[in-house]
Amino acid sequence: MITAERVLDPATAIYDEVLPARHPWSHVVKQGQILRIEDLGGNQAVDFLVYNADDPSERYSAQDTTVAQGNIYLTTDSKLISNDGGVLMTILKDTCGRHDTSGGACSCESNSVRFGLDKKYQHACVENFLTALAPYGLGKRDMVSNINFFMNVPVSEDGTLEIVDGISASGSIVDLRAEMNVLVAISNCPQMNNPCNAYNPTPIRLIIWDAM
Ligand SMILES: [Zn+2]
Repeated sequence: MITAERVLDPATAIYDEVLPARHPWSHVVKQGQILRIEDLGGNQAVDFLVYNADDPSERYSAQDTTVAQGNIYLTTDSKLISNDGGVLMTILKDTCGRHDTSGGACSCESNSVRFGLDKKYQHACVENFLTALAPYGLGKRDMVSNINFFMNVPVSEDGTLEIVDGISASGSIVDLRAEMNVLVAISNCPQMNNPCNAYNPTPIRLIIWDAM
């Protein structure tokens, strides 16, 4: 069966907001709804966690996702697999081409270890995630290895990871369809010590369309 690609017009969306640079966000996306993340300024890492909204003990598993698709990068048709083997979301469209799920989220601790003790008090993604998850009764023990949309983390043949200059142009989008009711938590990454945000954190746009 051939189905035409659904035309997603922001004028018909049920949610359309700009998330300022460095800010956290969380929202329940219901089964069948589509979430678009737009990298407005380009080269902006968007740290992303997703849970089964009806039972958050089921949550994103970077390991199961990469094994299931046989690829360490995420792009169109990637299914975000849970620790229970369920499909949380599917990437329907991706104009960036490659997203990381190996590099993890920045934290005050990793910033101080990597970049110096004076960086310990800079705002970081782990603190954003904790802020985003708190209204749902979730905390540090519920945080797992995350996705970094629009972040460029090449992995060399010897397994070395590197966080390098981004490949995401301004206006890059990724569309994700919820395959069950999901809770999405986002940190619009505030990192200033490596090139993941081109040393200039910028706003992103978040749009949700209802299921057809
Ligand atoms: Zn970060």
